[in-house]
Amino acid sequence: MLLEKIESLLNEVSSLSAKNTDEVEQLRLKYLSKKGEINALMSDFRDIAAEQKKTIGVKINELKQTATEKINSLREQLTETESQSDDIDLTRTAYPIKLGTRHPLSIVKNEIIDIFQRMGFVLADGPEIDDDKHVFTMLNFAADHPARDMQDTFFIEQSDPNDVTKNILLRSHTSGDQSHFMEKHEPPFRILCPGRVYRNEAISARAHCFFHQVEGLYVDKNVNFTDLKQVLLTFAREMFGPDTKIRLRPSYFPFTEPSAEMDISCHICGGKGCGFCKHTGWVEILGCGMVDPNVLEACGIDSKVYSGYAFGMGVERITNLKYRVSDLRMFSENDTRFLKEFESAN
Ligand SMILES: [Zn+2]
Repeated sequence: MLLEKIESLLNEVSSLSAKNTDEVEQLRLKYLSKKGEINALMSDFRDIAAEQKKTIGVKINELKQTATEKINSLREQLTETESQSDDIDLTRTAYPIKLGTRHPLSIVKNEIIDIFQRMGFVLADGPEIDDDKHVFTMLNFAADHPARDMQDTFFIEQSDPNDVTKNILLRSHTSGDQSHFMEKHEPPFRILCPGRVYRNEAISARAHCFFHQVEGLYVDKNVNFTDLKQVLLTFAREMFGPDTKIRLRPSYFPFTEPSAEMDISCHICGGKGCGFCKHTGWVEILGCGMVDPNVLEACGIDSKVYSGYAFGMGVERITNLKYRVSDLRMFSENDTRFLKEFESAN
């Protein structure tokens, strides 16, 4: 009688099925819980004759094991299917995909790099956190130069109050990349250093505490000012159009001698004079000059054998000239309405 009951339950549990994990739980309660059908067999088991106990006991164990395995395997299958259907919503559409655009400063920086690379310049970079030695001392800045003042430059750590050359700072120009490069390489070389620089400025539409520069340096035997002028004229025409004229005005930088500021003919009025060029017909775009022999010597280069030129421009400035962005702050606000304007320039 008991044996038949066990056989019948064994058949029953072997062919169990369930549609979801809740149903599996119902089956577990029905067969395997304390008040389940298999446990209920135990009360009958107590009443049977001693000689039958061994056979029946083995049979009950077999039933219990079969039921446990069946229910566990049903649960496993259903958990897997249910978690997969949770993760992937196959009904969801893949479109529209929102593609970003390249940042206007990156577009212009890449264009500048591309022009100079075609003239043989290679990229070199340096640290944004640098020391006074590479950013100022090796570049011929006097000990009391205003750029070394806390009012103009972000100093990070005063490692040695008695030795300003050991001060750590956020670089105020990418010229530091040039001193790093010069101390490690033998001329001739023609390098381009793009990067972010920092100045201690109040943030306004026309000034920011960080901006981007691209600086260039060429050191070789017999490099002269004519070479510099020709390279910059080529750059201006590639960047602003073939009719662009350039004008060099004498200026002063600690690391170049002689030094000059370069203007280009206003590409809006064609040089006739307009509001944009303040009716002069010219707009300023960069600073340049012949590398001061003191700088070459400080970097371990013999200034009697080698000479060089250097130039530097602000990427924001060039971008403003190309796209007439009225407020410098828009470059770092990450407003997608502004950034999307440059989709077609990409
Ligand atoms: Zn103009």
